[in-house]
Amino acid sequence: MHSSPLLADLNAAQLEAVAAPPGHYLILAGAGSGKTRVLTHRLAWLVAEQGLWPHSILAVTFTNKAAAQMRSRVESLLEQPSQGLWIGTFHGLANRLLRLHHDEAGLPREFQVLDADDQQRLVRRTIREANLDDKRFEPRFGTWLINAWKDDGLRPDQIDAGRDPHGQHWIDIYRAYQQACQRGGLVDFGELLLRSYELLAEHPALLAHYQRRFAHLLVDEFQDTNKIQYQWLKRLAGDSGQLFAVGDDDQSIYSWRGAQVANMQHFREDFAEVKIIRLEQNYRSTEIILQAANHLIAHNGDRLGKDLWTEHKGGEPIQLYAAYNENDEARYVIGRIEQWRSHGERLDQSAILYRSNALSRVLEQALVEAKIPYRIYGGLRFFERAEIKDTLAWLRLLNNPDDDPAFERALAQPPRGVGEKSLEKLRAMARERGVSLMRVAADPALRANLTGKPRSGLTEFVAIIDELREGVSERVLAEQVEAVLEHSGLRAAVAALEPREAEARGENLNELIAMANSYRVPEEDEAMGELAAFLTQASLDAGDSQAAKHADAVQLMTLHSAKGLEFPLVFIVGMEEGLFPNQRAMEEGPQQLEEERRLAYVGMTRAEKQLVLSYAESRRWRGGAAYNAPSRFIRELPGRCVSEVRPKVQLTRPSAFGAASSSKPLNTSPVKLGGNVRHPRFGEGVIVQAYGQGDHARVQVNFDDHGMKELVLAFSKLEFL
Ligand code: ATP
Ligand code: MG
Repeated sequence: MHSSPLLADLNAAQLEAVAAPPGHYLILAGAGSGKTRVLTHRLAWLVAEQGLWPHSILAVTFTNKAAAQMRSRVESLLEQPSQGLWIGTFHGLANRLLRLHHDEAGLPREFQVLDADDQQRLVRRTIREANLDDKRFEPRFGTWLINAWKDDGLRPDQIDAGRDPHGQHWIDIYRAYQQACQRGGLVDFGELLLRSYELLAEHPALLAHYQRRFAHLLVDEFQDTNKIQYQWLKRLAGDSGQLFAVGDDDQSIYSWRGAQVANMQHFREDFAEVKIIRLEQNYRSTEIILQAANHLIAHNGDRLGKDLWTEHKGGEPIQLYAAYNENDEARYVIGRIEQWRSHGERLDQSAILYRSNALSRVLEQALVEAKIPYRIYGGLRFFERAEIKDTLAWLRLLNNPDDDPAFERALAQPPRGVGEKSLEKLRAMARERGVSLMRVAADPALRANLTGKPRSGLTEFVAIIDELREGVSERVLAEQVEAVLEHSGLRAAVAALEPREAEARGENLNELIAMANSYRVPEEDEAMGELAAFLTQASLDAGDSQAAKHADAVQLMTLHSAKGLEFPLVFIVGMEEGLFPNQRAMEEGPQQLEEERRLAYVGMTRAEKQLVLSYAESRRWRGGAAYNAPSRFIRELPGRCVSEVRPKVQLTRPSAFGAASSSKPLNTSPVKLGGNVRHPRFGEGVIVQAYGQGDHARVQVNFDDHGMKELVLAFSKLEFL
């Protein structure tokens, strides 16, 4: 009956969804069950089989990449270019509407879209112009607040500050910021949605036009739509548009950004006769991976509930690696990737996922050392992150006062009221005299050329640098980094951010301290001094550009960024209490914990063939060493699906420590897995493996500075700490 090739390779439930008669549909299904595939096929089917004009369809996906993929899939299914098709992200489509109707929307034809940085700068300026203190009214927090209001569809007049004067100030800032945007023809991301939503509300003729035009609205990842996005869809659909939404409540991971799973319920209430179709066959993962993921997510309450099965019976067990520390974890992951590659597999078929961005640093370093190309998907490499660059600028300036680019960056972060005009004056004076900016700034007579806030800001800046420089010689590297964070105000500026961001960026700063802590000057740089050598290392690491866009490279990303993607080999690292689930979720309570669990479910279900989970028994974290218990999510997996990688070594007492006696209990031996040792040449390290007896007793030690070494106990002169 269905002769179309579009309908080949679909199971019965998928077929029902793809070729469904007119109406509203909610495709509710678990990970890897073909939701995105169904959406794409439905689109192609509507055009090819139902003869619909491509321009009568609107399809929304979560990322630009997903949109591009969908477009190309549709084109290949239709074997023609998909002109006139509106496929995009919510922001992309809203932008398109506003471009077409900028007059009605009250915008100039050439309105500019503000990126996050520009937006923040404008918020900062607004705060200053209102004569408010930008320490109490933190621009980054303000930006977040304004975006949250816009995501909720709120304009300044619709917000009630209650009796909080602080709140009233923020509302005024929002209003002034919006006026500045309007004067400059500027539109931020949140504004794109809100403005296009208002455009439709205020122009009934236009609304009627689009409601007639878009007979079909298709939405992927529906569980993560926020309030304004849902309202936007609802308005565009009107009475005649048919909404086809696919989603999975178990994969809702953006509630912190305003996403509302409740939109699934709203959809069923707000639209007449929404038919629900469930897809239950998973095509992505092996049975073992799927069973484990199903078992895990069953620990959440309040689910819509669904069952997933697969024809890919069996599969390799999920591997669980208990690392001694973060370096051991990275080493293991790299070893597995090398093994993968040596079997002729492609690197880009593997992905390393982590809960927190800061975890990428150790992995990046290990990958660089192993010369394995990698890409960070949907994020920045460690050394490209703003807070890291800011801190390094301060350190560079301490190390070399004549480093002008470092001077400019450090002076700007955190800001001290020295604007572009004053900076230009400084540059001119420096040019005239042929000296660096710092030398100009340090000269009170020259500083006198500035007045008011810029002058006092610059004076303060110079004083801080002087103070930091004085203490430098007594401090070890990590303390220098800490001192810079403290005295520069960088730490405080990060802490004042919106809580999620404060946490993520704070973790990156701590990671930099941890890096400084474990840094040892390599022999060839010994003449240089510790700080200089460290900075050299950092800039070398930063300079190693990531693999080119289409090059074969390991994919690194946060669990959030992995949504919708799939890879044959997946690692999830840092599976520890306090990291994943993260500390805040553990403190905030059951709802946050459930969102973390959904995130774990998303992560696990990215894996097609092999899934490797790891945790570290000790980890340099938040500046110190943390000994976290393994994540509860590991315990929540069915034991039959998991195999622990670390062999449980039967240790016998080696003869080097007395009479060989295999029956002696292990703990009388100084050889303890995880125990610390010192070696006259290799320095300190951790015992990772031990085997053999008597003269043959050997240990494998992971040395902090020299990596993994295998030593014969009898000759190794190891000192047990
Ligand atoms: P997620 O919840 O992670 O977004 P999804 O439900 O959108 O997953 P898809 O990405 O559409 O799932 O599909 C998962 C994988 O299964 C894809 O590789 C897809 O091509 C494949 N697949 C889906 N349906 C079928 C089918 N009927 N026959 C063969 N392969 C299929
Ligand atoms: Mg999908």
